[in-house]
Amino acid sequence: MSAVLIDGKILAMALKARVRDEISRLKSEFDLTPGLGVVLVGHDPASEIYVRNKGIASVEAGMNSFEYKLPATATQDEVLAQVRQLNEDTNVHGFLVQFPVPDQISQQAVIDAISPEKDADGLHPLNAGRLASGLPAMVPATPMGCLIMAKHALGGDLSGKHAVIIGRSNLVGKPIAQLLLAENCTVTICHSRSHDLPALCREADILVAAVGRPEMVRGDWVKPGAVVIDVGINRIPAPERGEGKTRLVGDVAFAEAAEIASAITPVPGGVGLMTVACLMRNAVVAAARQSGVSLSSDF
Ligand code: NDP
Repeated sequence: MSAVLIDGKILAMALKARVRDEISRLKSEFDLTPGLGVVLVGHDPASEIYVRNKGIASVEAGMNSFEYKLPATATQDEVLAQVRQLNEDTNVHGFLVQFPVPDQISQQAVIDAISPEKDADGLHPLNAGRLASGLPAMVPATPMGCLIMAKHALGGDLSGKHAVIIGRSNLVGKPIAQLLLAENCTVTICHSRSHDLPALCREADILVAAVGRPEMVRGDWVKPGAVVIDVGINRIPAPERGEGKTRLVGDVAFAEAAEIASAITPVPGGVGLMTVACLMRNAVVAAARQSGVSLSSDF
């Protein structure tokens, strides 16, 4: 492997330390303890793990953590009532509803009901619009994590780089595109209807894969020296580890791409770790904005 590893563990630890420091300052100077809420509907095992990790990270950071569990049979009205209650709760500065939600509930109706200033996942249309308009917004955590990693790999300045993003979801692809555009990148967004994806990817100084297809991006899709950010988290069978065992891989064929790129994020141990740290940061930003308190200039 010739590429430098962009280590999510180290970068997330550094960000979490800054979040912890900022929270202790908010507590001591303003008697303000940020609170992050998570609503879980049903018993999706992966979601239960995410929610538990978010709770642990919140407490470690020194903030208040609130968890609300609704049964898989919960109606849309019940979920919306929970959202409205959190909109009103002054101890909760940011919250999210863990997706996916069961089929009887409209994900968009849930997103629309969240108060934009408490929208810890940055999914509300108002936040998406503010981000696109270059206005202060709640920014989705995973895209923010990708941006921090790309800047780390490139010494902070992304200006003029050609960023190619595979994926156009509201959660990942589109907000990453907006963030990179705001950093003066030239941005290409690819999706399932794009023609000759390998050729488009080979144009990229920064290649972001947010597709959800295991190891789709091959080594020869990568421009020599590119920075590769792999957002994908895919569980695939791993018979070499024993019967029925699985392992996690990204959307990028890591070993191949690492021979060509200048820097690359691993899976696991990459973007996923940054997501939690950025979510913590969002809760602090939300708490400060709602309380009219300024954050440290370098936060
Ligand atoms: P979505 O399924 O919402 O979006 C996938 C995108 O990939 C779509 O825009 C789709 O195009 C595009 N796509 C699908 N197949 C192809 C293809 N063959 N060629 C080109 N584009 C394709 O997924 P998300 O954006 O929510 O997530 C993407 C990945 O990131 C997943 O693996 C997910 O698990 C992971 N993820 C990781 C997080 C983390 O913390 N690391 C957080 C969130 C997600 P189209 O729009 O045309 O359908």
